[in-house]
Amino acid sequence: MIYLDNNATTKIDSKVFLKHCEVLRKNYGNASSLYPIGVESKNLIEDSRIRVAKFINADLNSGDRVIFTSCATESNNAVFHSVLGQNFKGQHIIISEVEHPSVYNIALYYEEAGCEVTRIKVNTNGVLNVSQLMDSLRSETSIVSLMMVNSETGVLNDIEDISKKIRQSFPKVLIHTDAVQAAGKTPIDINLLNVDFLTLSGHKFHAPKGIGALFIKRGVSFNPFIIGGHQEMGLRAGTENVANIVALGEAAEIAQKGLEDGINTGIEALRDYMEQELKRLFPDSIIFGEQSNRIGNTTNIGFKSVDGTKLVLRLAQKGISVSSGTACNSISASPSRVLSAMHAPSEYIRSIRISLSKENCMSDIQALLSSLNELI
Ligand code: PLP
Repeated sequence: MIYLDNNATTKIDSKVFLKHCEVLRKNYGNASSLYPIGVESKNLIEDSRIRVAKFINADLNSGDRVIFTSCATESNNAVFHSVLGQNFKGQHIIISEVEHPSVYNIALYYEEAGCEVTRIKVNTNGVLNVSQLMDSLRSETSIVSLMMVNSETGVLNDIEDISKKIRQSFPKVLIHTDAVQAAGKTPIDINLLNVDFLTLSGHKFHAPKGIGALFIKRGVSFNPFIIGGHQEMGLRAGTENVANIVALGEAAEIAQKGLEDGINTGIEALRDYMEQELKRLFPDSIIFGEQSNRIGNTTNIGFKSVDGTKLVLRLAQKGISVSSGTACNSISASPSRVLSAMHAPSEYIRSIRISLSKENCMSDIQALLSSLNELI
């Protein structure tokens, strides 16, 4: 099997896998217990928190918080529930038209419940309309939530610049970024980004599924979404999944080292070679977001009058995994919301997304290219 759908999920790193298994078997103590195996679990969790904090340059000693959640969807939902609280009617939310459903649909939920939502537009290259964003801000705006990297196209938002602009005119507005598709692909520094909340998901950077994290900036209040016991400093109840938490910390450390060692340069070179060949073989194809600042592992390509979903299924028969739109959308017949927002031409909108990771090599790309050549 050739796996080229790493924005949907990634294969667990073998070092992370071994650590995960070891902790699962050995460290079964409840982290709230006072006897040694409980204390050991607690220590493992705190050690992992430090690793994840380091990964995003958060300072736990100065009051920054990192809490572990079950996934990015939970982290994103938790931010909205916390910021909007119980008196949400009349509050104003700003998101973009191209957010992941875990942000897009929670905003829609609050809109239906009485909030006002502004959805910032993107241009044909997937670039956010920052002037519209600035013009939309007002005193009732409670939260601006914008993703760092788009999952379908890989287009990067300049969150650092956007936060600076927002803080200059509306310092009280809380800023959240969904950094799920950025993790391990580009450095994340919460001090540069200057956000109040940031979301991560383990399974997008070679940790297991079922583990996410939420960064909460020092001084920013947070009302828990899941209420119960005192776990996670009282901010997220539920017995901690120690093995997953440890795996996330391990994956964060490996990803950090990968960034420092320039692992992404090799992935980007492979992606660029693939795109060059795709354009040569299919001169009338469109690579969405190609003109924009994009992350180096993602290609979203539309082949004229070719149905991406059919292509995905035919490639699957040849043992090659790519997706059409996002994983969540890949079985849906309707065209991608993200590409619609980018005004993708109708003959191209049913595109495929190819997303690479450190697990891929040139022979994967060659196999994909020859299969596409045959099928198209
Ligand atoms: N945010 C983005 C940008 C994503 O790409 C995804 C997953 O595709 C999520 C959030 C949801 O992540 P999780 O599966 O951890 O809930």
